[in-house]
Amino acid sequence: MRVDVLTLFPEMLEGVFGASILGKAREKGIVQLNAVNFRDYANNKHNTVDDYPYGGGGGMVLKAEPIFSAVEAIPPHEEAKPRVILMCPQGEPFRQSKAEELAKEKHLIFICGHYEGYDERIREHLVTDELSIGDYVLTGGELPAMVVIDSVVRLLPGVLGNESSAVTDSFSTGLLEYPHYTRPVSFRGWDVPEVLMSGHHARIDSWRREQSLLRTLARRPELLEQIELTPKERELLAAIRQAEERA
Ligand code: SAM
Repeated sequence: MRVDVLTLFPEMLEGVFGASILGKAREKGIVQLNAVNFRDYANNKHNTVDDYPYGGGGGMVLKAEPIFSAVEAIPPHEEAKPRVILMCPQGEPFRQSKAEELAKEKHLIFICGHYEGYDERIREHLVTDELSIGDYVLTGGELPAMVVIDSVVRLLPGVLGNESSAVTDSFSTGLLEYPHYTRPVSFRGWDVPEVLMSGHHARIDSWRREQSLLRTLARRPELLEQIELTPKERELLAAIRQAEERA
């Protein structure tokens, strides 16, 4: 996969792209990550990339021209057209399902904003997707782009070892993940659940599934509406809901 990130602050990306799992994915050649400073595409004497908004009001607006020129200067991928993704608090809320969708692509281009906003023509005529990482406003799109890139790259084949498999992660299964324990068996009198040491894989799987369901019910009940449950699981959840109502 190739990932190009349009930013005015390329230095912000290097720490994240150079370290840990992303750094290794890059070293192994699984992903190629490039920062593109779109100020290099400003065709004016002062390298200005923003201007005052028509109609007045506070804040500066990123001009269309340098962003269009920077995207158009990116060499095309041999195999696929790019997804051009605008980071923006007004975009589609980013979810694991979107990370899975983007992980199938060969070429992603991210546009990181700053200041008040973008010239609307960028949104209308250049981008294929608009993504928000949550209902809050940050100073720039670099952190949001890094969040999205991290979650996409970790899904690419060969990036995660067995020690951090994505298969049972929260949201991948539609549920929140079950609780984990490691040594010692007893810590300050708090013991690891018996079943996890039984060596009985079917019992362990069924305990984990039940814990995932209970945790999702307690913390994110709306997720349960979107997954298929067995009749036994539906009964279990209904019994818990009833007990809660009675309490
Ligand atoms: N005035 C804009 C609005 O109200 O929608 C907010 C602009 S924000 C200060 C500057 C830039 O930060 C945005 O263009 C975007 O690239 C990025 N940004 C801020 N919050 C974000 C979020 N929740 N998700 C994605 N990008 C965000």
